[in-house]
Amino acid sequence: MTAKKTAPLETSSTATLTAPVEDYLKAIYELETRQGNAATSDVADALEVAPASVTGMVRRLAAQGYLDHVPYHGVQLTEVGRRAALKTIRRHRILESYLSTMLDYAWDRVHDEAERLEHAASDELIERMAAALGHPTSDPHGAPIPTAEGTVTEPQRRTLADLPIGERARMLLVSDRDPELLRYLTEIGLHPGVDVTVLARAPFDGPITLRIGRTEAIVGTRLAEQVLVAHDLKPAR
Ligand SMILES: [Zn+2]
Repeated sequence: MTAKKTAPLETSSTATLTAPVEDYLKAIYELETRQGNAATSDVADALEVAPASVTGMVRRLAAQGYLDHVPYHGVQLTEVGRRAALKTIRRHRILESYLSTMLDYAWDRVHDEAERLEHAASDELIERMAAALGHPTSDPHGAPIPTAEGTVTEPQRRTLADLPIGERARMLLVSDRDPELLRYLTEIGLHPGVDVTVLARAPFDGPITLRIGRTEAIVGTRLAEQVLVAHDLKPAR
């Protein structure tokens, strides 16, 4: 049998990573996705550890081939590091989806559970969960789930704060990190897949009035900046 297949994510080089290593690679991937680079100080902030311990871990990960130093810009994942990060992210997002869909967890409570389970669950368990869910492509917060082959399409970073007045858009995703924010979004009816229109925006980063379904809500700029939207609802030219 000579099946031509992309190597699955569980290659021997990424099979035995420790939980801290998985957390580092995931944090660096997320920083690169969000802001294009990962300064060591940002990695320290993201992981809530001292900058000095980041320096040590980064040196080890570079020596092991997971990342490269980029002068003046921090670190960058190598292809091996990227695949390892995507594997952990796939596990995390499938766990969140399973907790939400099968076990009725609210979307503000799945992240902490998934943070713990992502390091412990076997590959078989994760793939059985994915199959039971019908192989979902996004998690409860709208984030894309990388495939088992390690491909993922990251959405454009267009937020509710960028949306012109009067333009309708569809909510795509919100970060899973702030349970309080997620509960507030639930309160005003904002979830991935929901249509939203900016009705008014006060000057100088003032409050933004939204229409969500049949109701209106007023949100701050800080919230609007955290909600990603797709604006493909206008009729094609
Ligand atoms: Zn999460």
